[in-house]
Amino acid sequence: MQRYFAQVNQNKVLLTEDDVNHVIHVMRNKVGDEIEVVFNNKLFLCEINSIKPLDIVVIKELSSNNNTKDITLFYALAKGEKISFVIQKATELGAKNIILFASKRCVVKLDNDDFNKKLPRYIKIAKEASEQSLRLDIPNIVGVYPINKLPKEYLTGNLYVAYEKEAGSTSSFYDELLNVKKDEPIGIAIGPEGGFEPSEIETLNALGFKNVSLGSRILRTETAAVYALSVIGFMLER
Ligand code: SAH
Repeated sequence: MQRYFAQVNQNKVLLTEDDVNHVIHVMRNKVGDEIEVVFNNKLFLCEINSIKPLDIVVIKELSSNNNTKDITLFYALAKGEKISFVIQKATELGAKNIILFASKRCVVKLDNDDFNKKLPRYIKIAKEASEQSLRLDIPNIVGVYPINKLPKEYLTGNLYVAYEKEAGSTSSFYDELLNVKKDEPIGIAIGPEGGFEPSEIETLNALGFKNVSLGSRILRTETAAVYALSVIGFMLER
């Protein structure tokens, strides 16, 4: 069943303009059709009462499991379309937080004003990916932080940095993740197209990040993010 993140007020569902359009013109819903609505991390079964004007009411709350674990992706700024891609995939793969950071070899320079202009689009991508992947939450997307000023509230639990210079060496991500207990937070930092500078790795290590290898091949930054989150998901959902 199609799922939407929306507001619920006195049993009435308030969809965004885009979602109204989706219900009417994309899904071509009719009176009597049911949809799922998430509001405040709760899931509701709802029914369409009328199409013009669109009127949707809550029938009942459904039991639901939160399928998001405490996973944080620290992602170095990459070209715009890569950030959009990674936000979508990280959402599908269950990241709870996506933190964008700037590092010396980032090709793209995005200041906070630029980021704030792009944020509504990033949130829209995350919302749609959350609906598609049947999540009960939309990931937090924050940025852009200098590497030495990553927000403290996300620096908890098991923190790893994918360091390409560790490729093929012994600090395998798998071995590290074997030691992670269920429901412990996990954070993974992925570097930019140009890779990390050694001094940045030192900074991250001082913040508690451990270096891990993602294998013997060097992955592009967006592939590395998807791979790392897939591996985390594989280990946590076993
Ligand atoms: N251009 C750089 C590689 C950058 S890869 C170079 O040739 O050295 C972009 C980011 O993806 C890296 O900073 C790292 O975080 C991650 N990454 C890619 N492949 C990796 C691997 N095999 N092991 C660990 N991290 C990897």
